[in-house]
Amino acid sequence: MARIALVTGGSRGIGAAISKALKAQGCEVAATYAGNDEAAAAFTEETGIKTYKWNVGDYEESAAGIAKVEAELGPIDIVIANAGITRDAPFHKMTPEQWHQVVDTNLTGVFNTVHPVWPGMRERGFGRIVVISSINGQKGQFAQVNYAATKAGDLGIVKSLAQEGAAKGITANAVCPGYIATEMVMAVPEKVRDSIIGQIPAGRLGEPEEIARCVAFLASDDAGFVNGSTISANGGQFFV
Ligand code: NDP
Repeated sequence: MARIALVTGGSRGIGAAISKALKAQGCEVAATYAGNDEAAAAFTEETGIKTYKWNVGDYEESAAGIAKVEAELGPIDIVIANAGITRDAPFHKMTPEQWHQVVDTNLTGVFNTVHPVWPGMRERGFGRIVVISSINGQKGQFAQVNYAATKAGDLGIVKSLAQEGAAKGITANAVCPGYIATEMVMAVPEKVRDSIIGQIPAGRLGEPEEIARCVAFLASDDAGFVNGSTISANGGQFFV
């Protein structure tokens, strides 16, 4: 039977590539998004993958959304916590609002996405959790105190879930992308982008599909003994 996969932020960018890769791997996929109805509709039209709208930063909305997905598709076997935002500012200019928006989405959003599916995974004795962290959670980044804190926190979530889930057949792993050619990165001025590329030994940005293939492996039945690990996919820019 097809595995059921939930991909938050699965309608655009890296998440869209992940949704497609999981579908290609034989999963039935539910992709979520925050508010960009047009992009979500275009994505469903292109791929046939169903989309669902809720704010991952809100626990009640997440739990209700997940219940709807499970009622329509069946129990969720695979969770890809991918939805994420940036609200960059140097620390002395960072507002509490910028801090909380990023924490709510990137960190609390992971709790809100995994917590409702966890009891079912434990009961059924199978689960795959993959959290999309970031190179900047590993090394920190100027003007990203909020973002780096959440992405480092995501690695703590994964390492702890790995220990709690292992005996129940549940794995939790992270992928830390470097700079990937999504709208988020392509929107920065060309000069800044060129200087980013200058710091990547591979001499180019990554492609969303390159992240998706890492995720698809971690989400597969084959990856059952890979637990609590982090795949750094960054073109050689940073090693841990
Ligand atoms: P995009 O901005 O291209 O897409 C983000 C997706 O997340 C969209 O589907 C968006 O929905 C959804 N989303 C945002 N906020 C929420 C929310 N509160 N609730 C539900 N869904 C939400 O992002 P990327 O593809 O670039 O990034 C994906 C992940 O990869 C993020 O976690 C990011 O931090 C991480 N990452 C990205 C890197 C890069 O170079 N791009 C590098 C390292 C990590 P909607 O379409 O409605 O806005």
